[in-house]
Amino acid sequence: MKEYKIKPLFTGNFVMDWGNILAPLCQGYVANVPIFMFLIEGPNGEQIIVDTSYDPATVPECIFHPQPRRPEEEVPAVLKRNGVDPDKIKIVIITHLHHDHTGNMKLFKNAKFIVQEVELLESTYPVGTQAAGVAHKDWVDLVPRFVLINGDLNLREGIDLIFSPGHTPGHQAVMVNTSKGRAMLMGDSLYMLGGMAKRFPKLFFELLEKNASVNTGKSMDLKTPEMQVEVAKVFNSRFGGYFGPCILNPGQNMQSLQKLDLMADIIVTSHDPLMSNMKVIPDDYNLFDQEVR
Ligand SMILES: [Zn+2]
Repeated sequence: MKEYKIKPLFTGNFVMDWGNILAPLCQGYVANVPIFMFLIEGPNGEQIIVDTSYDPATVPECIFHPQPRRPEEEVPAVLKRNGVDPDKIKIVIITHLHHDHTGNMKLFKNAKFIVQEVELLESTYPVGTQAAGVAHKDWVDLVPRFVLINGDLNLREGIDLIFSPGHTPGHQAVMVNTSKGRAMLMGDSLYMLGGMAKRFPKLFFELLEKNASVNTGKSMDLKTPEMQVEVAKVFNSRFGGYFGPCILNPGQNMQSLQKLDLMADIIVTSHDPLMSNMKVIPDDYNLFDQEVR
């Protein structure tokens, strides 16, 4: 099967309470949340973009605190450095219509945007906290160029869109065939690798320790009987992870996560600082040894 390379493109940080995205694991831990978009490159030079990062002008400052970008983090500069001419991009996959994924859609003047139909319908008049995540200004003028799909889609040989609702009503992940197996671009079904405790136990413990040291000034002793009980609860739960209140439907998200986990050899997230160490996937992917299965 055709094999692709994936480049995570770092495009700036929000500063947030990580409890909003990994609660109760990281409640009270305020730190950078990096925002990545992705370039998929095929053997014949074809390029597909996944998500488009944020526009500081459309992100609610009071919750997400988008940081001023350095010149090299501006999306046009990032694209140029990675050999992308936005005018030549024909396909942009949007995992979901949250502002940290839709902020630069307008840069791609000749592209079609692949979006789940239910995502467009629900984002037009979002429910509850979702309203703080949607920036209509980013995309409302571009709807005529949306290609609306329903459910899983084999986009082309080696690239599949996987319907994974929960974070939003019409969230989709992107499964990409590589020389080391199937890479799953998780969108925001999973923010941080450590949130998938069963697959990444070391990262899960690192997140626990980070949070504890911020809240108590000392690192957590995971060997105490109390902690052992709590950790066992997570690992013995059906899906083995914790997720925060930014998610529309946590139960549905966990089911989607299980589906994506089963299908994927390589997990790629949009907001984990570790993605900065991976310039090209699968070449630089080094988390295989974390798996305990
Ligand atoms: Zn996001």
